[in-house]
Amino acid sequence: MSEVKASETTSSSTVQHVDIAVVGAGFAGLYLLHRLRQAGFAAQALEAADDVGGTWYWNRYPGARCDIQTTDYSFTFDPALEAAWQWSEKYATQPEILRYLGFVADRYDLRRDIRFGTRVTAARWNEATQRWLLTTSAGPSVSCRCYVMASGCLSEPKPPEIDGVADFAGDVYVTGRWPHAGVDFTGKRVAVIGTGSSGIQAIPLIAQQAAHLTVFQRTPNFAFPAHNGPQPAERVAPLAQDLAGYRTQARMSLAGVPLERATEFSWQLSDAERRQRFERALAAGDLVAMLTQLWADQGGDLDGNALASDLLREYVRSVVKDPTTAEALTPHDHPFGSKRPCLETGYYATFNRPNVDLVNLRQEPIEAITAAGIRTSRRTVDVDAIVFATGFDAMTGAILAVHPITGRGGRSIDTVWANGPQTYLGLTVAGFPNLFLITGPGSPSVLSNMAVSIEQHVDWVVDRLIDMRAAGFSTMEATEAAQAGWTRHLADCTALSLHRLANTWYTGANVPGKARGVMPYTGGVGPYRTICDDVVNRGMLGFRLSGPNGAGQCNDGEIVRLQPDVRMVLGMLAELNLPPIESMGAAGARGFLAQLNATRPPGRPVGEVVDGTLDGAAGPLAYRLYRPATPGPHPIVVYYHGGGWVLGDAQSDDPFCRDLCRRSNMIVVSVDYRHAPEHRFPAAPEDGYAALRWVADHAAALGGRPGPLLVAGWSAGGNIAAVTCQLARDRGGPAIAGQLLVCPVTDGTSERPSYSDNATGYFLTRSLMYWFWDLYCAPADRSDPRVSPLLGRLDGLPPAFVVTAEFDPLRDEGIAYAEALGAAGVPVEQLQAHGQFHSSFTMVDVIATAVGGREKMAQALQRFAGIDESGALPRAAE
Ligand code: FAD
Ligand code: NAP
Repeated sequence: MSEVKASETTSSSTVQHVDIAVVGAGFAGLYLLHRLRQAGFAAQALEAADDVGGTWYWNRYPGARCDIQTTDYSFTFDPALEAAWQWSEKYATQPEILRYLGFVADRYDLRRDIRFGTRVTAARWNEATQRWLLTTSAGPSVSCRCYVMASGCLSEPKPPEIDGVADFAGDVYVTGRWPHAGVDFTGKRVAVIGTGSSGIQAIPLIAQQAAHLTVFQRTPNFAFPAHNGPQPAERVAPLAQDLAGYRTQARMSLAGVPLERATEFSWQLSDAERRQRFERALAAGDLVAMLTQLWADQGGDLDGNALASDLLREYVRSVVKDPTTAEALTPHDHPFGSKRPCLETGYYATFNRPNVDLVNLRQEPIEAITAAGIRTSRRTVDVDAIVFATGFDAMTGAILAVHPITGRGGRSIDTVWANGPQTYLGLTVAGFPNLFLITGPGSPSVLSNMAVSIEQHVDWVVDRLIDMRAAGFSTMEATEAAQAGWTRHLADCTALSLHRLANTWYTGANVPGKARGVMPYTGGVGPYRTICDDVVNRGMLGFRLSGPNGAGQCNDGEIVRLQPDVRMVLGMLAELNLPPIESMGAAGARGFLAQLNATRPPGRPVGEVVDGTLDGAAGPLAYRLYRPATPGPHPIVVYYHGGGWVLGDAQSDDPFCRDLCRRSNMIVVSVDYRHAPEHRFPAAPEDGYAALRWVADHAAALGGRPGPLLVAGWSAGGNIAAVTCQLARDRGGPAIAGQLLVCPVTDGTSERPSYSDNATGYFLTRSLMYWFWDLYCAPADRSDPRVSPLLGRLDGLPPAFVVTAEFDPLRDEGIAYAEALGAAGVPVEQLQAHGQFHSSFTMVDVIATAVGGREKMAQALQRFAGIDESGALPRAAE
């Protein structure tokens, strides 16, 4: 499939024929050219600029630097290249990074395959020839088999969207298109519009030159000091000691920088400890450190995030002397990290200078630009020059600027993306064969160290082209199902992050009329890499490959169906290579569970935890009571733990009980019941019922509100809870207001598809369930409704909330129970949780995607208890 680059003249125009066309000659385009050439492909790069560099060619504004440390923001594909280049600073300046990219281009002799000053203006897939035809602004069009857009996520500046720019009599500059000769602002009155990373870098230096600087700020950003200087020893030393290990760690990390994420939660740290961590991150002057190393809940939980945001706001006030200006510079409209934070070098201190003013556009919006300057709703500011630091049409801007890009059937990509970009892996688009996007929407891209993400994408694409060539295929194309699955996975990941809560260029909110939605992949660089590798290892899952003479292959499907955190937890468990629990014997399995529980996050504080003893059916049983921090009395939930009637105790679901207590604002009494094999059926349900009676009899003493109890249980505990409701109905009470059944066992007599769909691999396996059953009761007992509540009489039972998980052998019997309850006239609600596994809901502070489900459980309990949504009782914040 490799072919010699050639030009041929057609009747209407000149067309250059190549294997692969690459658009862009920044980090991505350069590495692509190198790899393609090494692999023997004829490749041509097309670049609108006059030289290499991309971002670093265009953004020459004063103060432009990287904000990922240069040890990390470099190519890593060639150790010899790494040895040949020395960065002078922790954060290199734009000229140095541009020199570096020029050095790379020279070292691998890349410029000879780049057509500079050439913009690709349109691209059309030709079904007949199975090739793309690229229209260009200069020189011949390009016919290519593969079209790779390395056109940049932040390369298309967005228009300023302010009336009157053309009327302005002074000089106008755009940070992303800065004049090569530089600009001298000496003696000038200058306006800067925009306070994102570009503005925050440029403002201090412009202020030093200008006679007067007026900064027009619409939204303040979080920023903290870069502490630029020599490269810090703590980065350089490990790199020097183990280059390969350091780079591997970066590739498998969250953000492409080898820093471990904090594991302690904010609520496990004292104020002093939190402050200490913050001060450490502040002193480090590192974006990724500040974003990941404070506490585990800073990025996904509003409360944890607010603690970090407050400390950053305090920092602003400590630098800016005028309180009104300080307040205006302090962000309040978005969680820290949901918008890209900035590293600053003298930015806040600049506002202490006598020649600098801040105009808060939230109080006085710009009305127009006039010949003399800028008119807001309150005043006119006359200036000699305006600098637009107003940002980019990010992620999709450069792609859609090639117009049209038409794929199969003449469909244009802007039509396909009308409601936001759709991709498979952020690399390909269904209906657009052999189109590849480097760091496209749906990949980690701008939420990572781009150098790492670019290399990963380039390697993946070129490796696939090599594989295709070896297998005799010439085209590859994502399937619609794979793309839809990826879109869902993106949404699952996005739900875990706070990016969705801010109006930013990540979400398209900075460009009027642009479709909204978080565009980059928020699941992290390492997990993303493993997914891309999985696609290949699973036979190019989600791709249709075809070749000459009708050769073809399509392995359709979705690459990630689990929730992202479930996938991660199951991956970690798989790596432990544990023996099956059922092979450990009951005592061994109990020890294993205790060990496992000792390593989990401890659960959040509640008002009070009390251990006690109650009367079971055949003797005393332990219980643990969780009381809310709010004034009582509270409704009481009697809770039955999971563990297959064999494992666990009143404390083994401790984090889940704490969570239920906090969210529902109810007392949760987690009760023991006797376990098999020592005490086989009917010990467990008889104890379950006895415990309910005891709690009802002692409700007032326990601090309970008068009235019916509620019951809840997970797994085998869900089975006990369901059975207890039936026994309470049949044995004359006590009254139960509602039942919460989480992944319950309801039927021991039959197997449904979920038993075979999820037979292996999701922790609760089919063989583990068989083992539990065998220990618990004889086959003949399984038709007893106290074993299989689904086989019991279901009318007259309390309202139910039944939770099932997609990847759980017990899924279908839970659904069957809910449906049967409904058919028997019992008010029932179901939560069929997609992408979750059997343990998801009890793994509090581990499986964050289960938070929403637990919130719904708490709401259901409140409804059962007659507490209205207006919050007669305050609920714990999520
Ligand atoms: P780019 O460097 O944007 O190159 C794309 C090239 O494609 C451009 O030269 C453009 O002219 C060309 N092009 C686009 N469309 C066409 C077309 N139709 N025809 C022909 N040519 C076209 N990321 C980090 O990880 N760390 C940082 O510290 C960092 N700092 C940044 C600072 C600034 C000021 C900006 C704007 C971005 C920064 N980024 C940073 C993101 C940065 O864009 C990437 O790190 C990286 O440089 C992107 O490389 P690229 O090759 O993918 O795209
Ligand atoms: P940006 O973050 O989008 O910031 C643009 C700024 O302009 C915002 O303050 C925005 O306000 C304001 N703005 C836009 N349109 C406006 C209008 N019509 N009127 C008034 N104000 C307006 O863009 P950026 O600063 O160029 O940075 C973009 C990204 O590039 C960064 O997030 C970063 O990833 C990268 N970058 C990195 C560095 C670095 O330090 N290495 C430097 C520069 C850029 P609103 O917020 O209200 O929209």
